[in-house]
Amino acid sequence: MSTISIAPDIGGVSVPKVNTQLFVDGSWCDASDGGTFDVIAPASEAELATVAAASDADVDAAVAAARGQFDGGEWSQLSGAQRGILLNRLADAIERDIEILATLEGLDVGRPAYEPRLVDLPHVVDVFRHFAGWADKIEGRWVTPAPFFGQARQAYTIREPLGVVGAITAWNAPTLIASWKLAPALAAGNTVVLKPAEDATLTALHLASLIDEVGFPPGTINIVPGLGETTGAALARHPGIDKISFTGSPEVGRQIAVQAAQDFRRVTLELGGKSPQIVLGDANLEVALPGLAVGFLANQGEICAAGTRIFVHSSKYDDVVAGLAEAAKSVRLGDPFDAETTMGALINERQLERVTGYIAKGSEEGAELVTGGKRPERPGYFVEPTVFAGGGNDIAIARDEIFGPVALVLPFDDIADAVAQANDTRYGLAAYIWTSDLSQAHRLAAKVRAGSVWINGGAPPDARLPWGGIKSSGVGRELGWAGIEASTEEKSVTITL
Ligand code: NAD
Repeated sequence: MSTISIAPDIGGVSVPKVNTQLFVDGSWCDASDGGTFDVIAPASEAELATVAAASDADVDAAVAAARGQFDGGEWSQLSGAQRGILLNRLADAIERDIEILATLEGLDVGRPAYEPRLVDLPHVVDVFRHFAGWADKIEGRWVTPAPFFGQARQAYTIREPLGVVGAITAWNAPTLIASWKLAPALAAGNTVVLKPAEDATLTALHLASLIDEVGFPPGTINIVPGLGETTGAALARHPGIDKISFTGSPEVGRQIAVQAAQDFRRVTLELGGKSPQIVLGDANLEVALPGLAVGFLANQGEICAAGTRIFVHSSKYDDVVAGLAEAAKSVRLGDPFDAETTMGALINERQLERVTGYIAKGSEEGAELVTGGKRPERPGYFVEPTVFAGGGNDIAIARDEIFGPVALVLPFDDIADAVAQANDTRYGLAAYIWTSDLSQAHRLAAKVRAGSVWINGGAPPDARLPWGGIKSSGVGRELGWAGIEASTEEKSVTITL
């Protein structure tokens, strides 16, 4: 067994060995061609592990194992209630291992470990329990069709699982995103082949060990780490996959969608964002400022729903610019396991170059650099949290997803104009409204073009609510009943009486 051992005193918790092989058909194995890739800790640039990289043949084997369980295997024989029991057991095991998973995310993603410990992982447990609850409640409908040439009829519908779901995930919140794919697919009776992001694989490997421990039939869930262009592409084009559920960039999402269209395959795409935060003149800044700040600072700004375009009524503009600058300056960059740290490192050197490149562009294109923007002198892919003011809604830092701790604050006088600017983007994932006037808030919520709107406070998506975007932010919805719909086909059966 190939494993890594992480120093037991990291984060003050004892971290067990993590298997760095592929998890296929209930067994751990090396890649068939011996391929591997390196895992680097973003906060120290130290090499953490070498992980097996699944080849085309390994993807074939994983899909075959998943197909075997779906087509008549032990998994296909389980009732919804039995699937729910397994999902609840997995939730319990994750809850027990929250410290381990938080430590792995701190190491692998470079984010402060308290974030996954307090936010992502309790949510992951909730997601598995929520979908465990759905597993025995996926019901069809009775419908009375029109009589056909005078003959009465009755009809019913059945919600059936799709088959084998290929899941491809991003690295920024790796356990959370994996749960959004696994839980609804499994509750509905599908089997899964999951390719985690190469930049954050360790939590998926620990999840594999928990899947093994709680007793899912072997092959129900297969975890095949590897690079995007090789392992990811092999999974996306595999003829044995019935649906691809993808979280990542619009660029790769488009390729996946084109491939899926060729094969008439189902697809869910959770893509990027450039979400607006609209601060009205009557907003209570004592509440709004911390929320606005979290909106672009949490997880180093590497959040798809980060609220990085901040439109502020001109009566509050100076106060918001000053308040956000203060919040950015009070951030403590550092080791993910240091209790003082409030922001970690970006995921890798490429991302650091991307973020610092956009910061340079922001100044070049006329925005005022209010604070931040520099790279601290220390190992790791750190960048100072950065606030820009002014420059307009057309410059690159207003148009493009940066995926780093960079906010642009823009003034407005007219609410209709603020909404028009907020909607003037190719993205449509999330939007945030800050106001004391709830009627106005509801009116604006109806007008902003986004999959999710938060009024007077953001939070991770709730397991019971649909999650997804419009425009370049994606296609389809995950979570809640929408997650079950996206994991099933509805078949109709009509009886002539
Ligand atoms: P990415 O598109 O580079 O990679 C995502 C996944 O796709 C990885 O597992 C990668 O290995 C794989 N991949 C890459 N090329 C592939 C190919 N040719 N075929 C198949 N798979 C391939 O994105 P990223 O840098 O990992 O993630 C950042 C992006 O994800 C941002 O745009 C962010 O907004 C988005 N995101 C969206 C959500 C959401 O819920 N909407 C959540 C998190 C992140």
